[in-house]
Amino acid sequence: MAGAQQDQMEREAHAENGVSGSDAAVTDVATAASAAGQAGAASISVENPATGQVVATVPDLDAETVAEMARRGRAAQQHWNAIGFEARGRVLLRAQKWLLDNGERVIETIVSETGKTYEDAEFAEVAYGVNAFGFWAKNAPKYLADRHVKSSQLLVRGKKLIVRYRPLGLIGVIGPWNYPLTNSFGDCIPALAAGNSVILKPSEVTPLTSLLMAEGLRECGLPEDVLQVATGRGQTGAALIEQVDMVMFTGSTRTGRMVAQEAAKRLIPCSLELGGKDPMIVLSDADLERAANLAVYYSMQNAGQTCISIERAYVEAPIYDEFVAKVTEKVRALRVGPPQGPGSVEVGAITFPPQMQTIEEHVADARAKGARVLTGGNAMPGPGRFFEPTVLVDVDHTMKAMTEETFGPTLPIMKVADAEEAVRLANESPYGLGASVFTKDAAKGEQIARRIHAGAANVNDALINYTALELPMGGAKASGLGTRHGAGGIRKYCEEQSLVVTKMALKREVHMFPYKARTTRLIQRFFKLLYGRGRRD
Ligand code: NDP
Repeated sequence: MAGAQQDQMEREAHAENGVSGSDAAVTDVATAASAAGQAGAASISVENPATGQVVATVPDLDAETVAEMARRGRAAQQHWNAIGFEARGRVLLRAQKWLLDNGERVIETIVSETGKTYEDAEFAEVAYGVNAFGFWAKNAPKYLADRHVKSSQLLVRGKKLIVRYRPLGLIGVIGPWNYPLTNSFGDCIPALAAGNSVILKPSEVTPLTSLLMAEGLRECGLPEDVLQVATGRGQTGAALIEQVDMVMFTGSTRTGRMVAQEAAKRLIPCSLELGGKDPMIVLSDADLERAANLAVYYSMQNAGQTCISIERAYVEAPIYDEFVAKVTEKVRALRVGPPQGPGSVEVGAITFPPQMQTIEEHVADARAKGARVLTGGNAMPGPGRFFEPTVLVDVDHTMKAMTEETFGPTLPIMKVADAEEAVRLANESPYGLGASVFTKDAAKGEQIARRIHAGAANVNDALINYTALELPMGGAKASGLGTRHGAGGIRKYCEEQSLVVTKMALKREVHMFPYKARTTRLIQRFFKLLYGRGRRD
C-alpha cells in the first residue's frame, strides 16, 4: 500500500474511532518514521494510556537495520565533529528556539503517548529540553576544552601536558517511557554537542516524542544521520549495544545490569541511570505546610512515575499525626483522569501497562501486612489506565511499598522515633538515587543529607537538583553508574587523550641506557633528598 494512501486510511480509522485531531497529527510523525524505516518491517502500536486508543504505529527495527544505521551514523559523525563547537552550538540554539516555537505540538505528542498531564509535559519535559539545548551549546566548549596540567614529576619538567577530549564516535542512547523527552532525547544533546553522532532507542511504549525531536533537529540544520531514532523493543536496544562506541542507558535496574554485561563483552563504556526508592525525612522542627506540599507534589507529580519521586516518607513522632493529616487532605483534593489541556487534572495516566500490576501488588502487600490506606488504594475503571492517589500509613520495611520501587501515585508514611532512625531506614535500601530532608535548621539538615547514601540529597526541597544542569545527577548503589549533567555528563561521551609535548630536550635523558652504577646511586640519593624530607607522624 502506498504510504500516502495508508496515511489517509489511518486518519479515517482514527476519525471513526473518535481519536482527536491531535492524535491524528501525532500519527504524522510515526508514518514518517515508517517511511524512513524499511518496507515490510514489523511494527509496534503506540497507545494513548489515558484513552486506550492506538495513536500511531512505528517500525520494530531489526539488528540488520540497526547495523546499517550505525554505518550511516559513523559516516556522518566525521563532518559533524569537524565543524567544531561553535557550528554545533548554532544548531542546538536553533533547536532551542524550535522547541519554544513548537512547544504545543511537542506537549501534545508527549501527552498522547504517556497520558501524563499537560503541566507534567510542559514543566518537566519541554522546559528541560529548552534549558538543556542552551546549556550544552554554551558549556560544551568549556567542559571539553583542552586542560593544561602541571605535574610534580621531574621527568616531565618543561614539557607541555594536556588532557584532551575526543568524541567517542557513535553513541547509543536507550531510554525509558516515563520521560520521553527529558530522559531519552535529553541525553542525546550533550552527546551531539561533544561531536558524536547518536542513535536513540526510545521505549517501545513512547517512541513518538523522539521521532518528533529528531525531525525538529533536522529542520534546525542537523546534518542527515547525525541523530537517528531506532524504534523497536528490547531486542532493538540489544542490537544497538552491538554497534555503538558507548551506551547511555536509562531504565530499570534489571535491564541496566544486562546492558552493563553486554557493554562489558564489547569493552565499551556505559553510563546507567536506574531505579530509585527515594526517602523523605521530616523532622519535628520542619515547616510542615511546605513539607506536606512537597511530599504530595513530588510523590504524585507525573503520577509518581519519576525515578527521583518521593517514594517513602519517614516522619518524627511528635509531628507525625499533623503531617499525615495535611498530606491526606491534599492528596484527596487531587484530580485524576485524562488530561484535557492546561489545568485540567493533577494526576495523569499510568503509562506502561505492567506498571499497574506493580502498583496494585505493592498496595495489596502493604494492606495484607497491616498497613492502612487513608485515601485511594485502587485502580480506576477505564477507559485509560489510572490509579487513585494513595496514602499508606502503619507501614514498615517488611512491605514492598517501602522497599521496592513502586513507580506510581502512592506515598507510604512511616513514623520514626528520631532522625537517627530515619537515616538508618533511609539507607536501608539497595537504591541510592535521591533523598530529601525537611527541617528549619538548615545546618542540621545538611549534616543529615551528607549521611544519606544517594546520588543527590535536597534540604527543604526535593528533586530540584535535577534542574541544575551544572550538578552531576546519578545514582549510588543499584541506582546507577556514572552521571548525567555537569562536566561528567559530557566528558563521558569522549575519550580522554593525554598529550605530552617536548619542545627542547637533551640528546639523552639521565635515566636511559647505558646504565652506570654511579648514575644509579646519584639518582637514588636524589630521590631520598626529594621524598625523604617532611613530617610523618
Ligand atoms: P526498562 O529497563 O524496562 O527499559 C528501558 C529501555 O531499555 C527501553 O527502551 C527498553 O526497550 C530497553 N531495553 C529492554 N531490554 C533491553 C535489552 N536487553 N537491551 C537493551 N535495551 C533494552 O525501563 P522502563 O522503560 O520500564 O523505565 C522505567 C525505569 O527507568 C524505572 O525503574 C525508573 O526508575 C528508571 N528511570 C531512571 C531514571 C534515572 O535518571 N535514574 C530516570 C527515569 C527512569 P522497551 O521499552 O522497548 O522494552
